[in-house]
Amino acid sequence: MRTIAITNLKGGCGKTTTSVNLAAALALKGYRTLLIDLDPQGHATLGFGVIPENLKQTIYDVIVNPRVSLQRVLVESNVPRLVIAPSNVLLSGAEAALMQMQNREHVLMKRLEKYERYFDYCIIDCSPSLSLLTLNALDAATEVIVPVQTHYYSIEGLKQVLETLDIVQNRFNPLLHIRGILLTLAEQGTILCQDVEKQMRDYFGELILKTVIHRNIRLAEAPGAGESIMTYDRMNEGAKEYMQLAEEICYEKIRLTQTDFVNI
Ligand code: ADP
Ligand code: MG
Repeated sequence: MRTIAITNLKGGCGKTTTSVNLAAALALKGYRTLLIDLDPQGHATLGFGVIPENLKQTIYDVIVNPRVSLQRVLVESNVPRLVIAPSNVLLSGAEAALMQMQNREHVLMKRLEKYERYFDYCIIDCSPSLSLLTLNALDAATEVIVPVQTHYYSIEGLKQVLETLDIVQNRFNPLLHIRGILLTLAEQGTILCQDVEKQMRDYFGELILKTVIHRNIRLAEAPGAGESIMTYDRMNEGAKEYMQLAEEICYEKIRLTQTDFVNI
């Protein structure tokens, strides 16, 4: 199972939109996918039409109570092969509960361990803070994707995120791999946007993913219908871009498999 945390210390940069649509794209490509909503705002949960307040049990219960299995809280989505570990506002109480626990940074990783073989991908939507919950996500993850809004100010914020990830790698999870920085909310065809993209690529090089997600009203509308863009409007550019992102993310694995094949 590849576990990808979608994180940035900033809000509104497309973390949830990326989590929801990347998870849906991976599932449509045939991968068994688990989407964990690790933000008490419950936006990824809502994005699939699940009402957070109506849930009896969520990822919160799994984290604070070892007797509640992940299986018990999973809800189905309208995409085959994609299930969601939902959240709601109660998840904000997990911080205090985690503080009292032993190995508090490793709790989520431990809870996910036995599901390793049931899923190909696990996508974790993080809240915009370096909370204990986010630390748990980064500890459980094998990879991280950092969505950033395509504007000049993002460069400074990004440096801070990369420094934070460096600390996490050194202290908690040496195997954590920065899969890439994802440029989001890019304005189609503007000189300014092309300029920022070029500056980002010059500065961060290969760390910037090839796929760019442009601003697209359908991506903002889809959560209102409780759907990912993949079912809401599959022919839309936003759907194509998220499918392309899924392909870019899978590529490494495919390449490895092909090399293995050649070696045999
Ligand atoms: P975060 O999870 O980082 O706070 P969201 O994914 O919730 O960010 O996005 C913030 C807002 O921007 C939401 O209203 C979302 O619908 C909208 N949004 C995100 N990505 C796009 C996009 N590519 N085009 C248009 N609107 C977008
Ligand atoms: Mg969010």
